[in-house]
Amino acid sequence: MSHPAPGALETVRAFVNTLDIDDAIEELARPADLGRWLADHDLLGGAGSVRTTGDDLRNAIELREALRAHLLAHHGRALDPGAAEVLDGAARRARLTLRFTGPDDTALEPAAAGVDGALGRLLAIVKAAIDDGSWPRLKVCPADDCRWAFYDTSRNRSAVWCDMRVCGNRAKVRGYRERHA
Ligand SMILES: [Zn+2]
Repeated sequence: MSHPAPGALETVRAFVNTLDIDDAIEELARPADLGRWLADHDLLGGAGSVRTTGDDLRNAIELREALRAHLLAHHGRALDPGAAEVLDGAARRARLTLRFTGPDDTALEPAAAGVDGALGRLLAIVKAAIDDGSWPRLKVCPADDCRWAFYDTSRNRSAVWCDMRVCGNRAKVRGYRERHA
């Protein structure tokens, strides 16, 4: 039972979870899988479909893993500096642009089309979550064989495991075995 994230941030959580490390399931195995996923999650900005290449898939997976690194850093760990560079690169390719969407409102929107634009929309969601304070609550489970993204709903933002009954217990058992080896 890992909690969904509020609003559009759930799309970022779903994107990180397109790789299920525990069960070795890769949802984005082929470029066409990526195109379908982006369409299913309304990231194409009105376009019904998108053409995807092997480079697009590589970029998307690199971005996904850089996002995962950021979510791991939400446990107070140091962030891999390369991860921020990957996000910067994706933002550049998307040509994220500030748009004035109302009298008191702005939004970041990609000037680029296709997969670059779609991945930019994910970054715009991240930026909005940073602004509204929800971003640090999106975390990945620190278990090496899990790394599942979940939203921390605890009052003091102290949740560690994706699921206390699964990964929390596994870690406890491992700790017990190490102490008693
Ligand atoms: Zn876990």
